[in-house]
Amino acid sequence: MKTEKFLVKEGSKVNLKNHLTDFTGDYTDKKQAVKDLEKNVARMRELQDVLYAQDKYSLLIIIQAMDAAGKDGAIEHVMTGVNPQGCHVVSFKQPSSEELDHDFLWRCQKNLPARGMIGIFNRSHYEEVLVVRVHPQILQFQQLPDDTLNDKDIWNKRFKHIRDWENHLVENGTQIIKIFLNVSRAEQKARFLSRIAEADKNWKFSIGDVKERGMWNEYMKCYKEAMEATSTDKAPWYIIPADKKWFTRLAIAEIIVKRLESLNLQYPVLTDEHKAELLEAKKMLEAEPAE
Ligand code: ATP
Ligand code: MG
Repeated sequence: MKTEKFLVKEGSKVNLKNHLTDFTGDYTDKKQAVKDLEKNVARMRELQDVLYAQDKYSLLIIIQAMDAAGKDGAIEHVMTGVNPQGCHVVSFKQPSSEELDHDFLWRCQKNLPARGMIGIFNRSHYEEVLVVRVHPQILQFQQLPDDTLNDKDIWNKRFKHIRDWENHLVENGTQIIKIFLNVSRAEQKARFLSRIAEADKNWKFSIGDVKERGMWNEYMKCYKEAMEATSTDKAPWYIIPADKKWFTRLAIAEIIVKRLESLNLQYPVLTDEHKAELLEAKKMLEAEPAE
């Protein structure tokens, strides 16, 4: 699959109307996509093993979307084959009072994947230029200095702080992939209705979700501007069609596999001393009396 199609190139404009939410490329149905997803998941598992052994890079996958776009399902299906010891998922909700007593990147910094690990942010610091921008009154609760609170340029400055922080991370070994799950408003409605209709899904629904849906256009404008301002060559955004979940999951898995492959990961090369130690250990084990 050609995943460049979904990439937001650094410095380019984003027009979400040009991004089909129900795009499925050459795939006409779910069957082949599921098979290809399985292949990618198996490959991801191999690559993750080397990532962990090499202990040089980490991979941070940031997932942002409107409600019911399929973040949870995508994480579950894409990471299913990965060794749980090498991967962790963090969900960012409304900040706690402790988090509000720090700058907005603090809680993200605290939850970054260590070298060798894959970390997934289910929502992220981008909420600070999305939900907070759609509801600027939230800023009032962020304990900010007056100059910052009243700064007309606050969003551009936040974009810059995010770019600088991500750049710092990339230069220090954290690979970053940013995914926007692009679901249509109509598909969101259908998914909300099924969350209401099916008892097992009721817990996923809250009335607040419908209120946020009412701000759809404001959210799309903020997504567009955030992606334009923060998609960089090293920490790019991908706009992934999200109306067909099976395609979404495959596209994400392909992007992750391609990125890991591009790192040319290698198992650590043993020193001569270490090799001699292995031989020595082998001799000792073989010299033991039979059990
Ligand atoms: P689900 O799919 O289960 O609904 P979710 O990610 O939507 O998952 P919720 O608990 O429903 O989880 O929502 C979390 C809420 O927290 C979202 O509405 C999100 O916008 C909000 N949130 C996240 N980060 C921030 C932030 N920094 N400031 C304010 N609100 C935030
Ligand atoms: Mg929610």
